[in-house]
Amino acid sequence: MCGIIGYTGTRLAAPLLLEGLARLEYRGYDSAGIAVVTPEGELAVRKAPGKLRTLVQELEGGLPHGFTGIGHTRWATHGPPTKNNAHPHADCAGDVVVVHNGIVENYLELRRSLIKEGHRFTSDTDTETIAHLIEKALPKAGSLEEALRSAAGVLRGANAIVAMSRREPCTLVAVRLGNAGGITVGYAEDGMLLASDLPALIPHTRRLAFLADGEVVAITRQGARYSDLAGRVLEKGPKTVQLDPEAAHKGGYPHFMLKEILEQAETVTSALRGRIAFDPPAVLLEEFPLTPQEVREIRRVVFVGMGTSFHACQVARLWMERLAGIPAEADNASEFRYRQPLLDRHTLVVAVGQSGETADTLAGMEEALRHGARLVTVCNVEGSQATRRAEGALLMRAGLEIGVAATKTFTASLVTLYLLALHLASQRGRMSPQDLLRHLEGLTSLPHLLGQVVAHREVYRSLAQRYAQREHFLYLGRGMSYPIALEGALKLKEVSYIHAEGYAAGEMKHGPIALVDDRMPVVALALQDPLYDKMLANISEVKARGGTVIAIGTAGDADLAQRADHVILLPPTPELLSPVLAVVPLQLFAYELAVHRGCDVDQPRNLAKTVTVE
Ligand code: GLU
Repeated sequence: MCGIIGYTGTRLAAPLLLEGLARLEYRGYDSAGIAVVTPEGELAVRKAPGKLRTLVQELEGGLPHGFTGIGHTRWATHGPPTKNNAHPHADCAGDVVVVHNGIVENYLELRRSLIKEGHRFTSDTDTETIAHLIEKALPKAGSLEEALRSAAGVLRGANAIVAMSRREPCTLVAVRLGNAGGITVGYAEDGMLLASDLPALIPHTRRLAFLADGEVVAITRQGARYSDLAGRVLEKGPKTVQLDPEAAHKGGYPHFMLKEILEQAETVTSALRGRIAFDPPAVLLEEFPLTPQEVREIRRVVFVGMGTSFHACQVARLWMERLAGIPAEADNASEFRYRQPLLDRHTLVVAVGQSGETADTLAGMEEALRHGARLVTVCNVEGSQATRRAEGALLMRAGLEIGVAATKTFTASLVTLYLLALHLASQRGRMSPQDLLRHLEGLTSLPHLLGQVVAHREVYRSLAQRYAQREHFLYLGRGMSYPIALEGALKLKEVSYIHAEGYAAGEMKHGPIALVDDRMPVVALALQDPLYDKMLANISEVKARGGTVIAIGTAGDADLAQRADHVILLPPTPELLSPVLAVVPLQLFAYELAVHRGCDVDQPRNLAKTVTVE
């Protein structure tokens, strides 16, 4: 979730880049760096760990001179936030530099083969592989643009990249792969810009062009040339955008909820940053307070939370048992605090909450402390009461969530909880390095997959049009999808005021089936997992009673389409990680229904973002 800026024009690049980075710093502050092509045709690269001000202080002695440059603020995913790992990253010859947003999923494999071919790496990042891939491709490709295209062809994952070469001193090239982060081209009076986000461009220009997935752009001070990954030229130009400050704040989207749903590829990346290593595979959860010995002494894990966080707890419970082999339960904090729970120092209580101020969750934490249990929190707000009360706080790092209905904090909390389960699993010797690597690779593929899931929004709009007048919905799921059915139903209730029930599909015959008729649509989560056949049977039971089924399935599933009335297919993903993807269609569905019904999506009636009373 980094910030990227690039400029080529008639103004000095360095001050403009620093000013742009200052506007982007909310996106990442592990390190900052700029590179400028000097009039002598050299690349002046300056970087510093930590916040931007460290770099600015270091540059007080003199800014590099030049009219073309790139800059970056980093949210580290691969490698700690050191100076060496700061972007821009260069190739061996020092001819090419790149800045990057995203995760190169196959970086380990690429890095190993580049090293075999003689490339020398100076950082731990996945980004550096891109610089070396460009270097490798350049002799045959002939131009930076072609070399970037060639590098893009072997990268897996969702990535936005900007590259610059001292051999083509007045050009910047960029590519966007997938949907984990954008690149916008700005057409200013005195030159051309590239940036990851609008705040860096708006002070210079409102004439903007947005790079789509699979598009490449080369800018010079005269303009921009667009092409696709095959090198075919694309007809594309700037549009003038009128953004009032409020709309700019919403990233140009009509509601914060939509913006927050769409940015989940990035927030999931930031939940991972600095917390995983691949060679050797490891989970790095410095904030987790228990020693390995104490971890081995844990006999039970209790997850507590409210609302959406309670659903995250229900997913986490399954992960803790499956991955770490520790008996685990999930409890609603308002019940937990009063039920005189049996706790001792061998119990780990994990309090999950977006705000860290939820009254019931805080009281549940008190209860845990009173009984001498170990206590950590998974929370999105640093410095909140929960983070102060717990022995350790694992931050979700989703950024401020403004929509009252939680969306991006749900997926960010899931990823954080998955890391926690992996951490405990490895510390208890429950996981081989190969298995851990497989799980880590699964996690790093999520941003890319999330980008794919949010790419097709029309289907939700048309479903909303069709079903907006219904007053009741039933959501069904089993196994990993059961808590997601609960979360889907909650989202619908919250924002569209439609009554919805989430149920374990096996429970259907024990009551809810009596409600099924052609007026109550059933949303069924039927992913390709070990319980798939059972879900199919439930879908058939609904259909046999004249019900309407909207099914969420896995790409390639032709059977589902035969049974359900509508099918939304998700990219295949390992069973345990499926909840992170499966919730997104339900968020989008709830959003579109609410919009269609004219509801106040960001501030639904009667709700508050932080529930500080019981
Ligand atoms: N994966 C890259 C890194 O760890 C880019 C992270 C970012 O988007 O800032 O450096």
